[in-house]
Order: sequence, then C-alpha cells, then structure tokens
Amino acid sequence: MRLTGTLHPWATVGKAGRVRSHEGGRVCVQSDCATILSIYNPTKFCAVHAQSAACGRHRAQEHAVREVTCAHCGAEFETRNQTRRFCGDRCRMAAFARRKRAAVRASMILLSEQEATP
Ligand SMILES: [Zn+2]
Ligand SMILES: [Zn+2]
Repeated sequence: MRLTGTLHPWATVGKAGRVRSHEGGRVCVQSDCATILSIYNPTKFCAVHAQSAACGRHRAQEHAVREVTCAHCGAEFETRNQTRRFCGDRCRMAAFARRKRAAVRASMILLSEQEATP
C-alpha cells in the first residue's frame, strides 16, 4: 500500500487560508492511545483516530490516496474515497446488478411456490 496523502490531513480540513495552531503537549483522547497531537491538529484525536471520530463526514475521507483493486474487474486505481471498491460506475453498477440478481434468485427460490406480483 502506498500513501501519497499529506502527513497532516487536518491542514486541509481547516478554513481556507487560516492556519491555527493549538497548544502543544496534548494527547489523543481516544482510550489506549498516547499519541501526542500536533499543534496544528484542531481535533482532540490523533491522525488515526480523527478518521474514526469523523466517521461519516465526507471531508475526513479526502486526504489519503489509496491504491485499490476493483472488486469487479480487478483493475487497479487510486482513490481518496476510503470506501470505494470499484474503478468506475460501470463496475459498481455491474457488481450491484450481479448482487441484485443473486438476491432475486435467492428470493425466487423462496417464492417459487407463490406467484410473486410486484
Ligand atoms: Zn489516537
Ligand atoms: Zn472495474
């Protein structure tokens, strides 16, 4: 795995053109984590836990470039989206359609005795 993102992901999170520093000597508030926080880190978490703390917030997912193998066609691509698994919409749709077909087939077996009307 290759990380080409910045070492200070929070640097891109702050408001544009406004670099604030925070007092030093702070430690990540995540239990069992003793990471000293950067003075440029506006959060209470280290880089690792800031991600999980900000889980669901789109911005937090934009800093690290991941190298991913498409789960459908196997092509390698780079993405900043931590949850992306497909190289493109075509593969995403194709994999989704395949899953859906499989699910439909499974439910068809269950419903095989009764005529299903949509
Ligand atoms: Zn931490
Ligand atoms: Zn693909």
